[in-house]
Amino acid sequence: MKWRGRRQSTNVRMGGGGKAIGGGIGGIIIGLILWLVFGVNPMQALQTGQSMAGGGSSTTTEATDDSRDTQFVKTVMADTEDVWHQLFQEAGGTYKEPTLVLFNGRINSACGGASAATGPFYCPADQSVYLDTSFFTEMRQNLGISGDQQGSGDAENRGRAGDFAQAYVIAHEVGHHVQTLLGISQKVNQARQQVSQAQGNELSVRQELQADCFAGVWANRNQQRVQFLEAGDIDEALNAASQIGDDRLAHSSGRSVSPDSFTHGTSQQRVTWFKRGLQNGDIQACDTFSGAI
Ligand SMILES: [Zn+2]
Repeated sequence: MKWRGRRQSTNVRMGGGGKAIGGGIGGIIIGLILWLVFGVNPMQALQTGQSMAGGGSSTTTEATDDSRDTQFVKTVMADTEDVWHQLFQEAGGTYKEPTLVLFNGRINSACGGASAATGPFYCPADQSVYLDTSFFTEMRQNLGISGDQQGSGDAENRGRAGDFAQAYVIAHEVGHHVQTLLGISQKVNQARQQVSQAQGNELSVRQELQADCFAGVWANRNQQRVQFLEAGDIDEALNAASQIGDDRLAHSSGRSVSPDSFTHGTSQQRVTWFKRGLQNGDIQACDTFSGAI
């Protein structure tokens, strides 16, 4: 996947692994400072401080490091922003960009605490995608890409093996953001409360497959825009779809993000829906909620 030399998003932040702001006197002082300097409600700041006592941090800072992974994530995020702005505009709407939080260790999202073990997830409550930094290493390992193969590119411009698979995971999470903006996730959550567990799980699978399809739509449009795909990229993504662990959908605030009890659909289903989005480049092709999947 070609990715260098394009615009980078300003919505990528770093969080977690830092010092948690504790409660108590320190928290009160920090609360007061926040209130005086930034006009932040001190009680709110204190509550945040208390929730941080459980570990992790919910404070984020702009990701300014120039590591390869951060640069890559910023570029992919910018690609998703440009494509989804275009798609929303075409449909007469306005796209609201999500934040992507890169974290290390533990993090508190508005959907609860998460660790590296949680895997990539999207939190609707703060409209943020969470990605822990070990994700890239793990993914290269899962895809069977050794350190030697990384970067042993032919041309400068050539991406590393595994790039597109990583971009696909980010695009899938952004797909959940799009579902949130379109009100789809809210409808699924409501419907889930009125049906049996099995039916609820099926709805979740349909929601996941739609996020895969949206990732395919993004890939199609981004290809038209910047011709970023290289030979083997699609196979790589499909391989990733069937191999990498499920991402975790965070359902409600105040609860820890816990591993899903449902699946994301079979590998075959995921491949089918990603391809459908990829071939059509139109979210109309992504109605996973009616008919057979
Ligand atoms: Zn998902």
